[in-house]
Amino acid sequence: MSINCDVLVVGGGISGIAAAMELHKSGKKVLLAEARGYLGGAIRTVEDSGYLLEMGPNSMMLGTEDPINVWLDQLGLSGNLLKASPDSQNRYVWIRGKLFPAPLSPSSFLTTPLFSLREKIRVAQELFIPQGSGLPDGSDETVGHFVRRRLGDGFLEKLIDPFVKGVYASHPDLLSVESAFPLLSKLEKEHGGLIRGAIHLSRTKRRKGMPLSGPSGGLYSFPGGLGEMVRAFSGYLNDDSLIHAELTEWHRLPSGGFKCVLLQEDEAIEVVCKKMILATSPSDAARILEKNHPELASVLFSIPMAPVAIAYVGVAREALPGYSPGFGVLFPTSEKRKVLGIIQSSDLFPNRSPEGKVLLTVFAGGMLSPKIAMSFDEDFEAIILGELNAVFGLKVKPEFFRIQRWAEGISQYSPGHALRIEKIRSLTPEGVFLAGNYLGGISVSKTFSNGVEAARSSL
Ligand SMILES: Cc1cc2nc3c(=O)[nH]c(=O)nc-3n(C[C@H](O)[C@H](O)[C@H](O)COP(=O)(O)OP(=O)(O)OC[C@H]3O[C@@H](n4cnc5c(N)ncnc54)[C@H](O)[C@@H]3O)c2cc1C
Repeated sequence: MSINCDVLVVGGGISGIAAAMELHKSGKKVLLAEARGYLGGAIRTVEDSGYLLEMGPNSMMLGTEDPINVWLDQLGLSGNLLKASPDSQNRYVWIRGKLFPAPLSPSSFLTTPLFSLREKIRVAQELFIPQGSGLPDGSDETVGHFVRRRLGDGFLEKLIDPFVKGVYASHPDLLSVESAFPLLSKLEKEHGGLIRGAIHLSRTKRRKGMPLSGPSGGLYSFPGGLGEMVRAFSGYLNDDSLIHAELTEWHRLPSGGFKCVLLQEDEAIEVVCKKMILATSPSDAARILEKNHPELASVLFSIPMAPVAIAYVGVAREALPGYSPGFGVLFPTSEKRKVLGIIQSSDLFPNRSPEGKVLLTVFAGGMLSPKIAMSFDEDFEAIILGELNAVFGLKVKPEFFRIQRWAEGISQYSPGHALRIEKIRSLTPEGVFLAGNYLGGISVSKTFSNGVEAARSSL
């Protein structure tokens, strides 16, 4: 079997889907090849025993200007979007055995018992710290260093550190502020500091009629979970544009373009294409490029990936005496807990659990505790139930328990990331384009944008 196309997109995660849709819209003959038996990559929604489980992302933040919005509108999906319930504004931080609501607005920061008066004064002093003061010369500053120098140790340990765990499954000292949280360094560079920058942002939001606290564009999903969006997106591509097969070999043709071999079960399928978009994790892109471009592959391999294991726990509400409705619970590293964070999934969106039951999605592993992510199922279950006992007082065996593991879960924007990406761009061979969550932000909507950009560059 042999297929001819303009562009072969390798990887059916959200970046590959976005690239394929954009190319299809531009009239290109595109083939999207996905090694797994389903599309979506990290995005996968599964129904099990009356629970709706998100095996990867639970929700997505939608900024008004994100390209994903255009597609949601075009495919009639915007009307199905579910905004996370108002309860999701309650995010808890676990400190010395107690849950504190995370202060997400200036007024709640002033009154929160989470920080001591000294810590609050240290945060307020940020207004008077000159831009770049204490910035190490020439190095790619870590998130930890940045927050310590601008807002102090307390703010870093009790708020930023648990937040970083929740988003990157990592630690502030392991991430580059410029690459992982570009908005923070931008606020310092453009407004002289974070408080000044935040005031500017809230004025802009007020002018545009956006919510002043919490995530600006809002957190969203669909009644059928994020999988509903993936199904609609893949429905836009016709059957001839999709193949469940793994790219195993490729070489450049003397006449231009590429000859590729895709493996579908035991059948080899030949694809001849003019261009290729590799929309995979950095390590999968490295494996694809290793033979022909070893130097590029070694830079791609050097991007760390955090392993993550997720436990889905379904219990009766009465079994959780210490439970309050909310988005979930985050844990500062200093508390030495064994989980990264808990999402109270049945509080976020309706119909995630049977009536009267609570669905908790518990994340563990990450850069600091990779072994937990890979531990035996029985050990993992015991760890999770022990932690839920400590946090919510869960004493009984839950009626529902399921595990999902991602050995290479979250791309890490570690110090030197921007230089690595620059090198990757300079070494990428002609006719090959890269997309994926290591290039322009790890969130669903940023990764989607990144796929669109790769498609446009390939035109
Ligand atoms: C556990 C977890 C929770 C997350 N939570 C959130 C969240 O709440 N909100 C949010 O915005 N983001 C979240 N993210 C991040 C976001 O989901 C991902 O960054 C994004 O979905 C990644 O998309 P991608 O296209 O880059 O890669 P992937 O989704 O990894 O897709 C890459 C695809 O390429 C395929 N592939 C690889 N090699 C080949 C080959 N040789 N041939 C064919 N196919 C190949 C793979 O099978 C895979 O399906 C989370 C991620 C994880 C893992």
